Amino acid sequence: MNLEMQFKKTLKEIRLSKKDKILVAMSGGKDSAVTAYLLHKFGYDIEGVHIDLKMGKYSKDCYNAIKTLCENLGINLHVYDVKKEMGSSMCYIRSAVQSKHKGKIKNCAICGVIKKWILNKVARKLRFSKIATGHNLDDEVQTILINIFKGSIDLSATSGPITKNIKDKKFITRIKPLFYVLEDDVRNYAKKKKLPVVFDKCPCAIDSYRIQVRNFLEKVPGKEKQNIMKNFEKLSPKIKKKNIEMNYCEVCGEPSRGKICKKCELMQI
Ligand code: SF4
Ligand SMILES: [Zn+2]
Repeated sequence: MNLEMQFKKTLKEIRLSKKDKILVAMSGGKDSAVTAYLLHKFGYDIEGVHIDLKMGKYSKDCYNAIKTLCENLGINLHVYDVKKEMGSSMCYIRSAVQSKHKGKIKNCAICGVIKKWILNKVARKLRFSKIATGHNLDDEVQTILINIFKGSIDLSATSGPITKNIKDKKFITRIKPLFYVLEDDVRNYAKKKKLPVVFDKCPCAIDSYRIQVRNFLEKVPGKEKQNIMKNFEKLSPKIKKKNIEMNYCEVCGEPSRGKICKKCELMQI
């Protein structure tokens, strides 16, 4: 099945409607560019959001690529400037959090939590019904393995091309239309369509545990990665799942599993 057919099949599976108002999280990379490109091509109502992390030249290149893509396709783009909204660049926020937690929390863990928090808040404020991200099959297989290695496989049981088991009026449902597409296929598609994309990796991703798992998976053929996902999905219904009870964070008011959300927990210095 080619990439476009797989993409459409996933949208059908998650019952995405043309009435949905979708905010696409655009990083400047190939995955979110292909996600925005195809949702637009297939006639969905989308706008883009870019979180500008203010990480020097890399951030500038990412912004320029997104701006070009959105202008070419006529997609409205929202930009969330981390420095303006939160007072500092992501590099500064990260080092402050790391010195508080004695360096135990890795770059991507901090950045990822903050970006998720921002996306939900922005999407709700702008009244979007869905948030689309560019996660591909390789990302998802990495997550399954990380959760197995860390003994928290129940976390993967709720993952899928659409968020499951979370129902809360302040939580915006997230979708991943490239969930079943291999990273190599996304890369080839972006090149074939000549999409403006930054192919370089984020310069701050150097110390992530995920990188180690990604390097390990590099030697695994695509077919085997698809098998890992297929077999995990067979196993997944047997893993006990419960509906996730949502509270509202006592500090910021955003939806949270605990009394204080992960972002506020990290940032309370
Ligand atoms: S790779 Fe890590 S540090 Fe870089 S933008 Fe993504 S989450 Fe943030
Ligand atoms: Zn909070």
